[in-house]
Amino acid sequence: MFEKILIANRGEIAVRIIRACREMGIRTLAVFSEADATSMHVQLADEAICIGPAPSAESYLKIDRIISAAELGDVDAIHPGYGFLAENAHFAEVCENCNIKFIGPRSSVIKMMGDKAVAKEAARKAGAPVVPGSDGPVSSEHDAVKLAKRIGYPVIVKAVGGGGGRGMRIAHNDVSLQKGFHTARTEAERAFSNPAVYLEKYIELPRHIEVQILGDQKGKVLHLFERECSIQRRHQKLIEESPSPALDESLRKYITKAAVRIAEKVEYTSAGTIEFLLDTKGHFYFIEMNTRLQVEHPVTEEAVGIDVVKEQIRIAAGEPLLYEQRDLRIMRHAIECRINAEDPANDFRPSPGRIESYYCPGGPGVRVDSHCYAGYTIPPTYDSMIGKLIAYGRDRRSAIDRMSRALSEYSIQGVKTTIPLQRAIMQDPDFRRGRYSTGFIDHFLGTKQIEPVEPEA
Ligand code: ADP
Repeated sequence: MFEKILIANRGEIAVRIIRACREMGIRTLAVFSEADATSMHVQLADEAICIGPAPSAESYLKIDRIISAAELGDVDAIHPGYGFLAENAHFAEVCENCNIKFIGPRSSVIKMMGDKAVAKEAARKAGAPVVPGSDGPVSSEHDAVKLAKRIGYPVIVKAVGGGGGRGMRIAHNDVSLQKGFHTARTEAERAFSNPAVYLEKYIELPRHIEVQILGDQKGKVLHLFERECSIQRRHQKLIEESPSPALDESLRKYITKAAVRIAEKVEYTSAGTIEFLLDTKGHFYFIEMNTRLQVEHPVTEEAVGIDVVKEQIRIAAGEPLLYEQRDLRIMRHAIECRINAEDPANDFRPSPGRIESYYCPGGPGVRVDSHCYAGYTIPPTYDSMIGKLIAYGRDRRSAIDRMSRALSEYSIQGVKTTIPLQRAIMQDPDFRRGRYSTGFIDHFLGTKQIEPVEPEA
C-alpha cells in the first residue's frame, strides 16, 4: 500500500480524500494556492506545499509545480479528485513517466473516453444504445444542418472536449442551429482549448441516470448500481439520489449490464461513471463516461455501503476488488444536495464571501462533506461549492424527510446559498413521487417563489 499521497485538489474533495487516507494509515501531502492558505484541507493534511497564486491556471492546473511538490514530498501516488487535472490525460501520463502512481485509470483510457465522440463509438461497440447523432465531430454549419434534417429537430450541439454543462446549445430549427453551432464552438474553444463540436438528437425531458463502476487491475469490473441526477440547473447537477425512482428491476439490470460491458471493453481500472439518458418511453442512451471520482459519489457510498475513495486507492495500489457482484446490494436510499454559495432567486449567480456563522446538521442518517467553517471566506476564484449534504434512510420517503430536516438545521450566514431552493424541492409533490426530469428546475422556478427561509432551530 502507498505510504504517502499528494492530493492535487482543494475544497471538500481534498478533505474527503484526506479522510480516506487517514483511515487507511496513509500520510497526505496537500497542495494549495495562495488563496487557500487557511483552507481546511491544508489544516487536515499531514504536510502542505504552496504551489502558486490564486488563479487555477497558475496553481491547481500547473502540472510542473504539482510534480515538483510530489518529488519534494516524496509521495508514492497522486489523487486528482474531480475537476482540475482529474481528466487530463497528459497529467496522468506525466505521473506515469515520473513513476508516481496516478489514482485513476491509465492515461490512454482517459484520453479515449475524454473525447466524447470516441467514447460514444466505444459504447456502441460494446453494444450500448447511444443517442442518434453525428459520427464524430461536425466541421461546418452546412453539415450540421444536413444532419439535423436527417435525425430531426430538436438537436443539441455539444463540445467534444466538454464538461460542466458548457459548450452545449439546443436548436429547434436551421436558424438556431447555425447560431448555436458557432456559439458552442467559441465556448468550447474558450473552455476546453478545443473548438470541435458534435451533434446529437435532443432528448426531451429525459432523466439523467448514471452507473458507478469499479474496475481493478486484474480485469474484474463491478457496478455499484445507479444514481439519478436529473435535478439540474444549466445542465449541472444540484440534487442526486440512489437508487433512481425511475428504474424497475429489469431496467436496472439492463443499464448496469450495459455500463459494465462498456467499462470491460475499455479495460477500465479505477472508479468511473457511465452516464445515460432515459427518455419518456423508457429507452436508454449512453452519453458519456467520466473517468474519475464524481461529486455525487457519496450517495452510492451510503446506498451500497462501499467507500469508493478507498477502493480507488486500493485499486491504484494493485489490490484486487475483494467482493463479487452478487455480494453487492442497494441497502438504503440516499440523497445528496450540493450546497452552493449561489443565489437561486437570481439565476444561480455565485455568492462568494465570508461565512459569518456556520452550523452544520447532524443526527441519524446525515452526512456532511464540506471544507467550510465560520469565518472561512469562499474565494471568488473557484467553484462555489460550500459542501454536500447527504441524507439516507431505509426507503426514499425517510431519506427525503431526513434531508428536509437536515436542510432546516443547516445555517449559513454571510453568503447566499441554494438551501432555500432545495428545501422547497423536498416538499414538492412531483419530487416526492419521484416524477421528474432534467426539466424539473426550470419548471419549478417558473411556477414557485423561493422565499429565503430562516433556520428553525
Ligand atoms: P457535461 O460533460 O458537460 O456534463 P453531459 O454530456 O454529461 O455534459 O450532459 C450534461 C447534461 O446535459 C445531461 O445530464 C442532460 O441534462 C443534458 N444533455 C446532454 N445531452 C443531451 C441530449 N442529447 N438530450 C437532452 N439532454 C442532454
